[in-house]
Amino acid sequence: MFGTVPRPNWIEIDLDNLQNNIRYVRDLLPAGTKMLLPVKADAYGHGSLASSFAAIEAGVDFLGVAHLFEGIALREHGVNARILILGPCMESDFPFLQKYNLTPSISSYEIAKKCPAGTKIHIKIDTGMHRFGIKYDNFEEVKKICELSNVEAEGLYSHLATADMPEHSAMEIQLTRFDRMVKELENARLRPPICHIANSAATLRFAERTHYDMVRPGLALYGYEFSVKPVLRLCATVRALREVEAGEGVSYGHFFVTQKNMRVATIAIGYGDGYLRGKPNEGVIFIRGKACPILGRVCMDACMVDASDVPDVQLGDRAECINGEFSPKISVEAFAATHNTISYEITTRMARRLYRVYKYKGAMMGWHELKEAWKIV
Ligand SMILES: *Cc1c(COP(=O)(O)O)cnc(C)c1O
Repeated sequence: MFGTVPRPNWIEIDLDNLQNNIRYVRDLLPAGTKMLLPVKADAYGHGSLASSFAAIEAGVDFLGVAHLFEGIALREHGVNARILILGPCMESDFPFLQKYNLTPSISSYEIAKKCPAGTKIHIKIDTGMHRFGIKYDNFEEVKKICELSNVEAEGLYSHLATADMPEHSAMEIQLTRFDRMVKELENARLRPPICHIANSAATLRFAERTHYDMVRPGLALYGYEFSVKPVLRLCATVRALREVEAGEGVSYGHFFVTQKNMRVATIAIGYGDGYLRGKPNEGVIFIRGKACPILGRVCMDACMVDASDVPDVQLGDRAECINGEFSPKISVEAFAATHNTISYEITTRMARRLYRVYKYKGAMMGWHELKEAWKIV
């Protein structure tokens, strides 16, 4: 289907949507506000290289990765944009930070003073997430870092624990703590030029108070939860068709037993692809615009659906598994809710073996064509 080897299943990554989402959010921001796109965990499962190149083209200022090696991988493929490592920095990272021009997050004076000369850093403040960062009221430690001559304190940031829970009071407390830190540094004329705290929820729902100099929306730019356009679609193909008589069990454990004669379609998608196994008989897959209920257990490489209502179903038909064009029933959000989890976990679990196709400037293309388009090494 794409490239030379026929594929049983694939993810469509709509880079046009990613770029439109970036422009949409940018237009909501006060002029001059910078944007960081988190591309950690392979860009939430969307492919970090393609997402990074698309994001840079759409005007994103920074990319965010969790770990040093994720930043190095981007550099080795020619990504030149600023990259902030969001995870804690260790001394063993130093030579690589320099070699690959990566910007560390710094959580103590001890490590800041050992940074190689000329390192640009972002100071991480713990305002209430309690994951890492300097305690919100430790003004002295932060000031000491800002005064160091070996580092340039370019950024100061924190992360919100409850921005997606508007009724929760913790965000208010975190914002107040962060603001006190910023003011304290302002008064000492040490305020780093790029202060930032907003994730997706804060960027879109609590604009005025959270934007500062840069925002860091991930989920919203990938198109979930915030009524922007989803970037990822999981598709597969019909690999087998059979008529099954009434009274027969289907799939492992026979958790589904036919009550009537049924046309069963076997779809090449399973938990080995990141299509969660969950409970038996839960969820639907769309074939030719029709919702086909999953029968029994999802297997590792396949699952069976009831295609009785799709009279013209054919071997090789496209099956839409997550984010189909036909129904919100299989949106990432709905699929996550069915499986008692969050959208982030669904997209980050997309398996490596899934082939990726990209939509870019209205055309579908494989990785090789995309590489040509962007001269990716
Ligand atoms: C992942 C991450 C974000 C993005 O969060 P979303 O909820 O996807 O918007 C922002 N900041 C930090 C530090 C992160 O690790």
